[in-house]
Amino acid sequence: MTVTDVGGHETVSADEQRVRDLTDELIEAFPPATTDARTFLGEQYDRGLAWVHFDEGFGGLGLSPRLQAVINARVAAAAGPLCMLRNPIGYGMCGPTVHAWGSDDQKRRYLRPLFTCEEIWCQLFSEPGSGSDFAGLSSRGVRDGDEWIVNGQKVWTTLAHVSRWGLLVVRTDPEAVKHAGLTAFVVDMTAPGVEVRPLRQMTGEAEFNEVYFTDTRIPHDEMLGNPGDGWRVSLTTLMNERTSIGGGIPRKGSGTIATLLDVWHKLPEDRRDAAARDAVTRLWIRAEVHRLTNIRANQNRRMGDPGPEGSIGKMESANLNKAIYEQVIDLLGAEGMLYGSYEMVRPDVALFSDSLQKGFLRSRANSIEGGTTEVMQNILGERVLGLPGDVRVDRDVPWSQVPRN
Ligand SMILES: Cc1cc2nc3c(=O)[nH]c(=O)nc-3n(C[C@H](O)[C@H](O)[C@H](O)COP(=O)(O)OP(=O)(O)OC[C@H]3O[C@@H](n4cnc5c(N)ncnc54)[C@H](O)[C@@H]3O)c2cc1C
Repeated sequence: MTVTDVGGHETVSADEQRVRDLTDELIEAFPPATTDARTFLGEQYDRGLAWVHFDEGFGGLGLSPRLQAVINARVAAAAGPLCMLRNPIGYGMCGPTVHAWGSDDQKRRYLRPLFTCEEIWCQLFSEPGSGSDFAGLSSRGVRDGDEWIVNGQKVWTTLAHVSRWGLLVVRTDPEAVKHAGLTAFVVDMTAPGVEVRPLRQMTGEAEFNEVYFTDTRIPHDEMLGNPGDGWRVSLTTLMNERTSIGGGIPRKGSGTIATLLDVWHKLPEDRRDAAARDAVTRLWIRAEVHRLTNIRANQNRRMGDPGPEGSIGKMESANLNKAIYEQVIDLLGAEGMLYGSYEMVRPDVALFSDSLQKGFLRSRANSIEGGTTEVMQNILGERVLGLPGDVRVDRDVPWSQVPRN
């Protein structure tokens, strides 16, 4: 950790100095300008700089996760490739879950190609009847010798159409209460019986998909944890998802708020009235408070996976991003209504926005994806503030006996 003393001198911890040196050596030996992305990322993984808190030999050095920001900032400043942009679900959620729950064989097999982006990953949790109530899901897994046969439907699966592997949770024991009857697997997205169909969003694009499983066979060795561990495995994914979505620490004044300021500065003088200036200033302050809150959460997070506090960053980043884009469109006036094309495309990256109008439309999903804002409020109320819990009538009933339509 970098500390500034009363004299204004910066002291850097031994771990941070080590990480800085290793990253600089990587960049010097493999200059991003002349090295292809796959080679660079492979070297980054082999040097333990992929997820710095992972075990040595699996892309990490066993150090504090907050040092990853130091590495990422140096790689970004050198215009190096960032895995999280090309393989966001893989890097932010699936990698940490495989590391926490996978066997050594699974970690060896999956983590490096995930990080080099040779193999894209997707997260197969949500179903038509189970989004917020994800533990109530219906897709079934039935054991057949050394394999499991899976049937069911997943939905909103980001980047499934370019994915090689999926992190799948299915119900393997319908007689257990809903949280206890789930099991997690790594599923081969090219296996027979896996069908991926595009789902179009309001931007016109289809970043996500419906995924159908029909008698899909998954080897028993591809289970993460044990039968019945699926809920606990999913919590690792979901906590990492929230931090991955809302826990970023951009430079002061950068990110979406910089987009708003850019629009503001380009406005003709007569449209920069006091009311609009007030609104822009308020948003700038909110963005800075969000950034500082994430810095504090990152400092408090010593090792391993984030806790329920990650929901603060997730919730505020969603609300703030939406508010900023609303202001952008307000400032643009009639121009804000112009949209290039609604032609259906299936992008091979998620969250890419090439216009302000598209950024605005895409931001509407922020308070749904990765857990809705209402559900974040429940988590914060119950698990952080200790308030009375939500009403849950199905918690102690075997899943098979819970009424559903
Ligand atoms: C852009 C995008 C990408 C996504 N990518 C993926 C992905 O890759 N993989 C994946 O598995 N899923 C993905 N999702 C799905 C996402 O996780 C779900 O949409 C989300 O969890 C909400 O579930 P739902 O859509 O079924 O809504 P519901 O759970 O049906 O909720 C409907 C409304 O009811 C409210 N609500 C529900 N329960 C409560 C409660 N207990 N208290 C208060 N209010 C409540 C919700 O806040 C919401 O407003 C994605 C979604 C989006 C929008």
